[in-house]
Amino acid sequence: MADQVRIFQLARKLGLRSEALLQVLGDLGVEDVSAASSIDIETARAAAELLAEQAKEARRRADEQAAREAAAAEEAAAEEAAKAAAAAAEAAPAAEAAEPVEAPAEEVTTGDEAATEEVKEAEEEQVERWVPAWAAPESLRSLEEQLAELEFEEEEGEELYLELPEEARRPSGDRPEHAIDVPPVVSVLGHVDHGKTTLLDALRETDVVATEAGGITQHIGASEVQTGGNTIVFVDTPGHAAFTAMRARGGQVADIVVLVVAADDGVMPQTAEAIGHAQAADVPIIVAINKTDMPGADPDRVKQQLLEHELVAEDYGGDTIMVPVSALRKENLDSLLEMILLLAEVRELWADPEADFAGVVVEAARDDSRGPVATVLVRNGEIKVGDMVICGAAYGRVRRLNDWHGKSVKSMGPGHPVEVIGLSEPPQAGEVMTRVKGVKVAREIVGQREEERRAAGLAGSGRASLKDLYRELGELAVKDLNLVVKADVSGSVQVMESQLRALDLQLEEVEIVIVHSGVGDVNESDVLLAYASDAIILGFHVGVTEAAVRTAEAEHVEIRTYDVIYEALADIQNAMVGMLDPIYEERTVGHGRVLQIFRISRIGVIAGTVITDGYAQRGTKMVVMRDGDVAFEGTVDSLKHFNDEARRVDAPNECGISTPDFRGWEEGDEIAFVAEVEVPRTTPFDSAG
Ligand code: GDP
Repeated sequence: MADQVRIFQLARKLGLRSEALLQVLGDLGVEDVSAASSIDIETARAAAELLAEQAKEARRRADEQAAREAAAAEEAAAEEAAKAAAAAAEAAPAAEAAEPVEAPAEEVTTGDEAATEEVKEAEEEQVERWVPAWAAPESLRSLEEQLAELEFEEEEGEELYLELPEEARRPSGDRPEHAIDVPPVVSVLGHVDHGKTTLLDALRETDVVATEAGGITQHIGASEVQTGGNTIVFVDTPGHAAFTAMRARGGQVADIVVLVVAADDGVMPQTAEAIGHAQAADVPIIVAINKTDMPGADPDRVKQQLLEHELVAEDYGGDTIMVPVSALRKENLDSLLEMILLLAEVRELWADPEADFAGVVVEAARDDSRGPVATVLVRNGEIKVGDMVICGAAYGRVRRLNDWHGKSVKSMGPGHPVEVIGLSEPPQAGEVMTRVKGVKVAREIVGQREEERRAAGLAGSGRASLKDLYRELGELAVKDLNLVVKADVSGSVQVMESQLRALDLQLEEVEIVIVHSGVGDVNESDVLLAYASDAIILGFHVGVTEAAVRTAEAEHVEIRTYDVIYEALADIQNAMVGMLDPIYEERTVGHGRVLQIFRISRIGVIAGTVITDGYAQRGTKMVVMRDGDVAFEGTVDSLKHFNDEARRVDAPNECGISTPDFRGWEEGDEIAFVAEVEVPRTTPFDSAG
């Protein structure tokens, strides 16, 4: 690692945005890297040199431009002075000579100058982009020197936001002056028995302060680990069911996922599931390759297996950080923590302590002695004992707050977990807690929420359903068809996946996204994932667990099970066709013959017409034919059936047609009515389903 440097760190060092550096690296042929990727020092140097060249060039052009402008300004000023002198001389005979006219320079803008203006702007933009502070001649230091002392000055990270309700989202936009940095929140996921719990316990024990203070008296559902002056918050409940449950309720809290994979066991079904969940939530993954102390441990095999899931280790040329550890022997945990902090640094994590309080529930339960207890991660603002808070259908006055050691505190600020006691009922993980004025307001809001929930339940919900997809021809703005695929054996999963991919290739306008696939019955975790990503679940030769059925009903998630693969594919094809934008075509929808002309002074000329077939409609096009020639082409502006304004008149009725654009009607004129009609999309698939 010593001769490697991470892109965002280098960018920061050079006073550049990561994107600008990535672009330069692209010019150098370095592709498939992100801001968190490492590059070797040679490449870094090459990039820096290219940048320096570009910067120099941009500066040279800027200087030239400045010189040109100065010369032009001088010339213009001289011209103006001459003009003014001439004007003054002309005006001289008049007794009161006018004051010298001061013609502002802007007034003499010619086309040429507008063009130079454009060039100037473009160049300025380039200078801004390419000339970082260090490229100023006075501060141009040797790059080696700078690369040698990589230390971070200013934060410049990408924003990777999650689908959170506004108030619980990581704040974005301009960082207020009083904003504070907050620790990253980490969720530990992985296959059962791969060591998630052991790892969490071991990490907590690295916190010397906690251990010295007599350990943790009581688990509150999240913990803070101090490392080298930095803090990391771990959500205690390991496992992707909890992770996805939170995300499903909109309260995704994790900034980073640590994926635990046992080195002696490798990638297992739940590992794959966990990856799917993290990827669906757009949360970056760090892989902890655990149990490296085991005799059968093979970290390389794990890395290879992970390639299939688009997690490419750095030593394989990718940018996923993978750290070999032993949770049991507490080996290399420091590295893991360090990498978490490193990844956290790329993302600017800050919060506004002065904002209104908002927190996300990490875990909640009913405690025999204390009543409903919720562990909340404070996102913004501050929660205090005595506050009236609401959270989903729960509300109450905060009676007591405990920090993560279980110690009673008066208040808690952003970035930290806190145990809240005093709620009317335990809220659900992922729900957002906010403060309200008083109990009346709290009851009102909670009542309203319940009402909305009931109404939503009655009306069904906005969840994806194949039937809706068929029906809502063209009305869908989103053209992703998200799927969770489950099958009895991995062979079937592969067949389904490859068939779906083949379908996907046949139709450009709709993209099939397999959010997750796996072997086994459709379970609750699948349903939650489908709920969170608005996906439909396809089961092939599998059952559906009872919990999954219940949750799917409650959350309106569609589960479709099939025994024959082509039936599943036919359904998907239909759904895809249903998602296509409709095609409109101009078609002749009817004909008419003019029987009589009425000239009414106030209204104009009305053609009394009999519709001979089809229909005439207001607003559509009409073509008037006379003796085989087109006499007029225009719009049916007014359509009357007897004395009433009509929208549409069908054959064999009579009607009055008029338009201010045409007065030359004659008896016997033939009219063709042309309308835009929606044409049903034919299946674009090779084998119609
Ligand atoms: P979880 O189901 O993922 O939470 O896994 P646990 O943390 O409960 O661990 C499962 C088993 O693996 C336990 O018996 C642990 O003692 C053992 N284990 C966890 N980490 C390690 C490790 O690094 N090395 C070894 N040899 N065993 C481990």
